[in-house]
Amino acid sequence: MSLHIQTPLFESRSLSAAARRSVWLKLEALQPSGSFKLRGMGHACETYLALGAQRFVSSSGGNAGLAVAYAGRRLGVPVTVVVPETTTERAKELLHQENAEVVVHGASWQEANAYAQSLLGSSDAFLHPFDDPLLWRGHASMMDEVAQAGLKPDVILLSVGGGGLLCGVVEGMHRNGWQNIPVLAVETEGTASFNAAIKAGQVVELERISGVATSLGAKRICDRAWQWSQTYPIQSIVISDSSALDACERFLADHRILVEPACGASLALACENHPALEPYQNVLVIVCGGATASIDQIRNWAKSC
Ligand SMILES: *Cc1c(COP(=O)(O)O)cnc(C)c1O
Repeated sequence: MSLHIQTPLFESRSLSAAARRSVWLKLEALQPSGSFKLRGMGHACETYLALGAQRFVSSSGGNAGLAVAYAGRRLGVPVTVVVPETTTERAKELLHQENAEVVVHGASWQEANAYAQSLLGSSDAFLHPFDDPLLWRGHASMMDEVAQAGLKPDVILLSVGGGGLLCGVVEGMHRNGWQNIPVLAVETEGTASFNAAIKAGQVVELERISGVATSLGAKRICDRAWQWSQTYPIQSIVISDSSALDACERFLADHRILVEPACGASLALACENHPALEPYQNVLVIVCGGATASIDQIRNWAKSC
């Protein structure tokens, strides 16, 4: 049995009305760790365990770390997550709930990550949050489920941080024989590393990350995501923080599920019937989820932007 679960896929009545076309939801928010990340992390952790790993190490205080912690607990492998001092109490509490060892080190993710790397012994596996072919293969299983359900959408909406989800979804389409369903790759203004690469014609590093979509905060996308953008129809879309937050609030009201702004970013395109949807009738949104934002935090953010 896999560590992730099969998630619901259904047509949202309210979002379809808002977007004036059929909007389908793949509800990755319902994975036990709270996001799609469990698909890839589950597959990667199982593979590293089979190769002899005796500990999993991560440097993510977000959904990637939570997925590793969940997978480690289920597989009976100890997990160490190194997080920077900026990590919220809530995130640390969720990691502790999964029995992970949490090490707080450094002022930024860079410092926490460097420290995590320095801890690695020969029987430890390091789990990268988005740049690992094992992750992409695991993420791809969500498209197997969509294909098995008999839904072939005209377009897929998904959020981009470092591009791991993007790589997984495109890989999943290929292995189901779908070579040309376009993807709308959504980022917020403060996290637009995919957009920056498309504009520059190569992978570039953002000087800084800002805004509320913390789970999209990779300064640069992985090379594989860039390569796909050169051979597969992927359109880059950038939206505001306030659009992402409004979409979170609306999704909670409509579907009774709280997601992070990182996920609200994709939902916002449907909520606002974004012009990029114009050519399409059947839209599939990957509801990537996210466990680290509370409703109070989302409302406080909304007040200040
Ligand atoms: C990690 C994450 C993303 C971005 O995924 P990448 O693979 O980094 O592009 C989007 N939404 C949520 C909730 C996430 O946890």
